[in-house]
Amino acid sequence: MNKRRVAILGSTGSIGRQALDVIRQHRDLFEVELLTANNSSELLIAQAREFDVNSAVICNEEKYDEVASALQKDGIKVFAGMDSVCSLVGGSNIDIVLTAMVGFSGLASTVAAIKAGKAIALANKETLVAAGSLVTALAREHGVPLLPVDSEHSAIFQCLQGCGNNRISRIHLTASGGPFREWSREKIAAAGPREALRHPNWQMGSKITIDSATMMNKGLEVIEAKWLFDVEPEDIRVVVHPESIIHSMVEFADGAVIAQLGHPDMREPIQYALAYPQRLNLDNRKLDFAALGSLSFSAPDTERFPALGLAYEALRRGGNLACTMNAANEIAVAAYLREEISFYGISDIVAETMDGVEFVASPSLDDIFATNEAAKEYASALIEKRKGRW
Ligand code: MG
Repeated sequence: MNKRRVAILGSTGSIGRQALDVIRQHRDLFEVELLTANNSSELLIAQAREFDVNSAVICNEEKYDEVASALQKDGIKVFAGMDSVCSLVGGSNIDIVLTAMVGFSGLASTVAAIKAGKAIALANKETLVAAGSLVTALAREHGVPLLPVDSEHSAIFQCLQGCGNNRISRIHLTASGGPFREWSREKIAAAGPREALRHPNWQMGSKITIDSATMMNKGLEVIEAKWLFDVEPEDIRVVVHPESIIHSMVEFADGAVIAQLGHPDMREPIQYALAYPQRLNLDNRKLDFAALGSLSFSAPDTERFPALGLAYEALRRGGNLACTMNAANEIAVAAYLREEISFYGISDIVAETMDGVEFVASPSLDDIFATNEAAKEYASALIEKRKGRW
């Protein structure tokens, strides 16, 4: 494998840090050229020094002076703001861009990287949820591979290697069920952020951990799977699999099902995307089937986890609806983390926003950005109106 020159957008988050851990073990195969962070200036400075990057971007412009003065003597170029990210990802010194920012904020820079012809290691699922049709068309147009980093989608992608031109009949998307898998609706309704943030299997950032508790994360992943693998909504089945050992499965016309397995560790799909199609050593825990004993499966409960049903609805109706859903969810999750709304307030806000924001059947990228703003405003107003009355 030729040395790959990497940009990591969102390097101080959970995925970004684990990606750097992968690269740390394979310094001969990867060169880190660009790191970007939203707010965590101290960690960004430390990372930029350790990997001796070409450039670093701090999106929060108020922290520019701090980062710039720290890195100046190391000869590292420092920039501020999202516009800088969008222009730097296209640089000729970059081969592959890992998109690990949180939420819709990742869309503009992902589009910029695709337009510049960079391979995309896609960790920012909201990009495909909000603008899947446009982003996948753009990637085809520029001949850019979208290499999934989300563990389920990496699993599906891995299951498809060597399958020739055989079409997928069905995708079985596994879900851990999150911290509330066995809780009653009443108990879930009263759960605060501290309980929702306790994910049984995966160590992740707070946004995605709350999304796992509501199962909106699985809903976002159903939409992501549709765009990555061109499968109809009714052929994407969610199955609850609490052990998180099978990361997802693909079924073919003859009923054969191919699965990808491993202990939950995000470094595996991150490394697979960065090194694709090579498989490199990884110091992770390997499976011992006799010690595992058994694996269990059950159907998801959309009564207790209504967000999953909303995502299927968004996918079936198409247009800008998934963008609206995603924006309302980002606002509602943030409000829940501030303890301004209840747990089921999140899915209520999302459902009401999906009803309230104008539907656009064939949105342009500008429409998507406008929808995101309109939906955020709509959801924020709903939260303001109902604050403290949950
Ligand atoms: Mg996932």
